[in-house]
Amino acid sequence: MTKVALVTGGSRGIGRGICLALAQGGVNVAVNYASSSQAAAEVVNTISSQGGEALAVQGDVSQPDQVETMVKTVLDKWGRVDILVNNAGITRDRLLLRMKLEDWQEVINLNLTGVFLCTSAVSKVMLKQKAGRIINIASIAGVMGNAGQANYSAAKAGVIGFTRSVARELASRGITVNAVAPGFITTDMTAVLSEDVVKQVLQQIPLGRFGTVEEVADLVRFLALSEAGNYITGQVFNIDGGMVMA
Ligand code: NAP
Repeated sequence: MTKVALVTGGSRGIGRGICLALAQGGVNVAVNYASSSQAAAEVVNTISSQGGEALAVQGDVSQPDQVETMVKTVLDKWGRVDILVNNAGITRDRLLLRMKLEDWQEVINLNLTGVFLCTSAVSKVMLKQKAGRIINIASIAGVMGNAGQANYSAAKAGVIGFTRSVARELASRGITVNAVAPGFITTDMTAVLSEDVVKQVLQQIPLGRFGTVEEVADLVRFLALSEAGNYITGQVFNIDGGMVMA
């Protein structure tokens, strides 16, 4: 039986890397995107050209109806979902005193409520299958905080609490739920940082560099596919060059 994965925000950055890594692991991959249809098509074509199977699925993860439709599209195509990677995420960075309610709500709706909606919809499928692996992409901002990211840090800390609670609820049904908390990874999201900020950040990274999409994707592939993953649930894995050590 070929396993099936749904990766939210699979069109670019870390999500794209996760789609490619899972496909290389022999998994059929549903590549979710919100607006980057060309980028999602490119991910699907790359997977096909390497002999894998993939499908681009449009849908805003913060919208319940769109999440339901997205999951139905995957089920219509492959009939099952074995792996869910909640990766879609945005930033709307501002210091607290300048942060508007819209900045707060947009980030919470997408980065936290989106994880709830996708996990609720997919866990129903996994419960019937009596198996599944759910991996939530959090952030070290949710562990240690970050000035200018009160909304984002709150959402990511929420994702960590959500991961631990749902891991406890679903463990007896053969479903594991873990979180991956990246530090600074080279993607469009970090491309907007000024040279000064990059310099300051690098001083806080013991390994002295930003991480790559492939490094995060390899960790997610391990959690999604490894036999050892059968006995790992409710954990948060920092992948951050040593920024957080606890
Ligand atoms: P990115 O390059 O900006 O890509 C974001 C992805 O999310 C895109 O595929 C985008 O698709 C998708 N997306 C945005 N809004 C969406 C929505 N409403 N519904 C569905 N998909 C949506 O970001 P990234 O750096 O790869 O980050 C991926 C995840 O890792 C995020 O959760 C982020 O918080 C987390 N993270 C990143 C870093 C880092 O340093 N880069 C560090 C820690 C954690 P469209 O283009 O179609 O909108």
